[in-house]
Formats: sequence, C-alpha cells, structure tokens
Amino acid sequence: MLITAGTVFGGDPPAAGPTAMVVDGARVSWLGRAEEIPPPVPRQKIELGQDAVVIPGLVDSHQHMVDLPLLARWIDCRGVRSPEEAVARLEASAGHVPEAEWIVGWGYDAASVERARRATRTQLDAVAPGRPVLLIESSFHQGAASSAAFASVGWGRNTPRWWGGELERDRRGEPTGMVWERAFGVVAMAARSAAEASMAGGATEEYRAGARRLLSQGITHAGEALATGRHLELLSAAALPVGFTVFPASSRSFFASPWDALDGPRTGEGDAHLGVGPLKLIADGGERCAVSLRPAAALLQTARILAAAPREPAGLRVLLTARAKFSKGRLRTGTLHYPTGALADIMAAALQRGFRLAVHALGNEGVRAALDGYEQARRRTGVDLEGCRIEHAHFAEPGQLEQAAALGLILSMQPGHAVAFARTMRLAQVDRVFDPIPMRIAIDAGCRVAISSDGPTAPGTALENMRAAVDRMPADGIPIRPDLAISRAESLRAATVGGAEALGLARVKGSLEPGKQADFAVLSGDPFDPATKVRETWIAGSRVWSAPA
Ligand SMILES: [Zn+2]
Repeated sequence: MLITAGTVFGGDPPAAGPTAMVVDGARVSWLGRAEEIPPPVPRQKIELGQDAVVIPGLVDSHQHMVDLPLLARWIDCRGVRSPEEAVARLEASAGHVPEAEWIVGWGYDAASVERARRATRTQLDAVAPGRPVLLIESSFHQGAASSAAFASVGWGRNTPRWWGGELERDRRGEPTGMVWERAFGVVAMAARSAAEASMAGGATEEYRAGARRLLSQGITHAGEALATGRHLELLSAAALPVGFTVFPASSRSFFASPWDALDGPRTGEGDAHLGVGPLKLIADGGERCAVSLRPAAALLQTARILAAAPREPAGLRVLLTARAKFSKGRLRTGTLHYPTGALADIMAAALQRGFRLAVHALGNEGVRAALDGYEQARRRTGVDLEGCRIEHAHFAEPGQLEQAAALGLILSMQPGHAVAFARTMRLAQVDRVFDPIPMRIAIDAGCRVAISSDGPTAPGTALENMRAAVDRMPADGIPIRPDLAISRAESLRAATVGGAEALGLARVKGSLEPGKQADFAVLSGDPFDPATKVRETWIAGSRVWSAPA
C-alpha cells in the first residue's frame, strides 16, 4: 500500500522530508519522496492530501487507563470549590452506590480550594452513616476517609505510625480522616477491590472507550504505569487496537513494596502489542514529594513567598504544611516511601529475577533515593540497568541528571505537569529554588528522555504535552521557566521514539522506518500548531480511528 501526504516525519529522530510511505502488511517497507517510489508501484494507493502531516504514532509511556472503569463508576469531584461541596456531591450519589461498594469521590483538588481545606472524617461519616466513604485527591496520592473506611481496613486511634505514609491526627491523637501515600494506598486498594469485584469483567466497555480516547490523540501504544496480573487479563480480553505495556505492582496496594509481584509475569513477557513492562516502584510522595534545601535557599524561598503574596493564604499554607525538619545540613520535607537501603533490596531482587524497573521519584530527595537504589542494586547484582527508568524527576538537580545519564537510565517526564501545576509551583516559589520538569538539563546531561502524560493526573492531550515541552505555556499565558524548554525536534522524538525506548519497544515501534511497524497519526497540519487536530490513527498498517466528520 502506498500512502502519500504533504509531509511524513520519518526516521530517527523523526524529521520532515519524505512525502510517501510504502506499507507492506503491518510494516513500513519504504519511505521517501513520492516521485522516487521504486518499482513495482503498489496497486493500493491512499492519498491523504497535501495538507496532511504524518507523524509516528505517539507512545505515552506512563498513563493510567485501567483506572477509567473505576473513575466512570465513582463520583467525579473535579472542580468542586470546598469540602462541603464535595460532601454534597457524594451525598447526592450515595444512594445509587451498591451496598457492597465504597462511596468514592475522586479528583478533589485542595490546591484550588480556599485555604486548601480538606474534608474531615466526621463530614464523610455524615454522607452515609456506617458505610466506607473515600474522597480521593487529584494526585491520587492522598485522600480523606470515613470512620467505616478506617474500620474496614482495621485502623483506629491506636494504629501505629509506619514508614512511607501517614494517618493524619488532630491534637488529641484522633485520625482526622486524611491519609497520605502508603496509608492512602491501603484504603484506595480496599475501595478499588470492592468496586472491581462488583464489576466482574464489566470493564471492557470502559477500556474500549479509553482506547478510543488514546487513539483520538494519535497515541498508538501506552504504558500502564500501575497494574496487577488481573489488569493484564482484562486488557487481553478486551482485545484493544492500542498496544499496552503494563507495569506490575503489588496487588496488596499500589504503594506497597511489590515483593508479591516478583512471582508474577516479568518484564518482556507477552509481545509488542500487549506485554509486561518494568516493575513499578515508588521512591517518594506526590504532593508530598521528598525535597531538601540548603537553609539559605529555604530562607530565601520563605522571604519570597511572603513578599510575593503577603495576603495570599495559600502562600502561608505552603510554609505551614511543609513541616520541614533539619538534618545533615539541609531542611527536609515530604515523604520517602522506603527507609535507606530498603529500596535497593527490592530493586536488586527484581533485577536478579529479570525485571526492569520504573521508579517514581518526584522531589530531589526522591530522585536521590532512586539513584542510590540503582547504584547499590547494580553493584550488588552485577546486572546492567539498560531499559530502567525514573518516572517524573520533576525537581531533579543537574548533578543527579548527570548521574542518571551515566547509569544509562531513561527519564519519563511530564511537561503537561509543568503547565498544569504552574500556578501552584509559582505560589510555593518552587520554580525559583528548583528547575521544575528539567527536560532541557536532562537532555543536555545525556539522558534519554520520554514525554508521557501520567493521565488522568493532568488534562493535556498528547499533542498538547508535546507543545508544553517546547513552550512551557500555562493557561495564564506566563511561561514557566522557558529556559528549560526543549526544541520541537527533541520534543517529537521524546513523544515517539523516546516513549518506545522507555517501554523496550524501540526495535518495533516509535519511528517510521523500513522494517518497523506502520503506526502513525495523520494530523491536519504542523504538530506544534495549537490549531492542529488528529485526523486519523493507524496501527500496524490499518486505520483504527478517524475523526468524526
Ligand atoms: Zn503515574
């Protein structure tokens, strides 16, 4: 089959130049200028038009589609402006939630609520007395739970503190209802299990809708960044056109140390269409990612927060909730999920069993923990780190990025977060003390970089995220640290080839080259023009999605 277009971004790095492509079955067999097609000229010919731009299929190496059936089932609390409004939404829907399930709201964004107020256990108890209620925040790293929710996981006033998470308590020592990180993971998994049990395979329709949403963005392959063996079965049963690579995690809780997953399917099992990716590990928190600052920098940051917004309660809140502790010459805040050495233990065990790894690390201390873990695990096992990744690295320091490059790690980064959270970062002056989402520095340090969405944690489409890496332009029109922008060519590569490298699929997917799978998106124009739309998405030489006429 011969396909002609105005431009085809072919090769690695993907570059404009070709105007025609010959596809033989599922694969590209030739790429070049339309007037140079070698004989025999294929009989089947598809002319996409002079304005059509063909780019390689976008590879979103870190997103969470398997959550869609749950989100469709649970109560959408995005955009609510107060805990009272969230509670009212939960109350309005509680009657429709089957008795065996938890009443769950999701998408609550405390950062957009005045004084960042959060729902309390008492408020949630009133939603539906005696029933487990959970209000999940938009980062999916924390939430507020009712007394019945606590009881159903066996928690109460005397639950001891443990590492890597928190049951927030009031002055009298009573749990307020807020649960963070590993503690949140436990209640979230209980809510999830109850919902999945009552859906009993009813996820297929949502998976199909989710796959269509990916295709409508030009995405042809996606990394499912937290999953269990059951999700692999469900995805397989749904027989979706989009390719998926699932990241095994613990079936006890997505934030638990995944020792149980070491007995499950390993990285590389399956095939290029539906396969097993790296083991997912969490080094630090989300909103409470682990960061440290020298005291002078912290003092300057504090002064700037107060000077920039003397009447802005959110600015003061940043200082009050940071709860920094001083140790080893630095002020430290946020949550590390593992004590020193424990992360390296599971990393080493996983490497020895043939897993590759993907470590969530947001703050500079999270990144330090991930890098230390990688160094130690490699030293102990002698196993190389090819294909191993760090997820996010939002506040990584330049020296850490050099270390990551030296270790051969791939960074999966989210420019969409830079624009979606620009306001919050500016309020906390984080853009002055760190280099947020430092794609420029990472590439200059020699890291292989992939652009991913981490959807649904930020709203951008794949093309918008690709543009965000280049212009770093939030909705308010003030670019966030434009000095950290990357070029268009770098961005397109990171969203295609970079994604395929991050999923261990670069030999088959990620670029349009002879021998590789014919996965591509047909755009209405320049990929970096905000007006450009996805017209069609093709996978393995077949058109699998077209924009509604
Ligand atoms: Zn994620």
